[in-house]
Amino acid sequence: MSTIKFDGMCDDLGQGLLCPSCGGGYLHHEAIDIFERPEDADVILHTTAGDTVTSKLEPADRSENPSPRRHGLFITFSCEGCDATPILDIHQHKGGTFLRWRECLTQ
Ligand SMILES: [Zn+2]
Repeated sequence: MSTIKFDGMCDDLGQGLLCPSCGGGYLHHEAIDIFERPEDADVILHTTAGDTVTSKLEPADRSENPSPRRHGLFITFSCEGCDATPILDIHQHKGGTFLRWRECLTQ
């Protein structure tokens, strides 16, 4: 399972996020997808910010929202060190906030 790993100690820039595939420290943000969902709502507001910004309403049962019931977002990266395009999920569940590499769902 891919755990979230960081490079070095926290300083004024924070800690560097490492690629879950090769362990390299050169991850680039490609796009951010944000999902606004009141608890168990049937419709979600999905905003994607990349080269352009788009927003749309979508049915919860066909959404990529990483949260099963509430708000969520994910960041799609590209890595300079390998061909991976890892996706970092951040989501709210039962009052907590959780982070995971999406690939850990398939392992
Ligand atoms: Zn990599």
